[in-house]
Amino acid sequence: MHDLLKNTIPNITPEACDKFVAYYELLIEWNEKMNLTAITEPKEVVKKHFYDSLAALPYLSDGAKIADVGTGAGFPAIPLLIMNPTLKITLVDSLQKRLTFLGEVLKTLDLSAEIVHARAEDFGRDPKYRASFDAVVSRAVASLPVLLELTVPLLKVGGKAYCYKGDVSEELPTAKSALHLLHTSAETVPIASDYGARTLVICTKNAPTPSTYPRKAGMPAKKPL
Ligand code: SAM
Repeated sequence: MHDLLKNTIPNITPEACDKFVAYYELLIEWNEKMNLTAITEPKEVVKKHFYDSLAALPYLSDGAKIADVGTGAGFPAIPLLIMNPTLKITLVDSLQKRLTFLGEVLKTLDLSAEIVHARAEDFGRDPKYRASFDAVVSRAVASLPVLLELTVPLLKVGGKAYCYKGDVSEELPTAKSALHLLHTSAETVPIASDYGARTLVICTKNAPTPSTYPRKAGMPAKKPL
């Protein structure tokens, strides 16, 4: 596992290596009692979960305030935090049992992050969190138009949402209206991958989000912008 990590993740420190190993062990152990991931083989976990999660790392400044919306078993937030423990991350998910797992991960890895049990729609309307983040990261949660409504309201003006996606050639055009309504612009950056197309869609919030968004829980997915 250590060699695998060293060969896959550039500039990984021995300490970060140990944390990834501990994270992997917890993932496999807890996956037996709850559904965390279908990917369990070490090489696959390192590439498809750990390495993939690090795509946004070069864009995140030290100490940046970041929300991971729909973090699940901690992707991409936990790998980002292992590689840069100065990040101030809030882990958000609507499933409590996954957050219980993440509490154990943070304790074992001696990392700190805030854990919030909420639907992203409610989280984005909470004055404590709305327009308060420098960046939002999100992977495998929703289609781009839905994801924009869940993430952009959380950003400060000028903040960026990093949406981890596969091939977006068909999905990106469907987000045109959401980008317009949420005063957001998008660019795409390919993620190096030997297991199919991976893309980071970087969305910049250019002006405050209208107070109508996000709509009530369930609406963004039911009627995407
Ligand atoms: N981001 C992780 C990853 O890449 O492995 C988890 C992906 S999993 C397919 C989607 C996660 O998003 C689930 O844990 C689910 O509970 C959460 N989720 C989906 N919709 C959500 C919403 N509206 N608010 C909060 N969490 C949500």
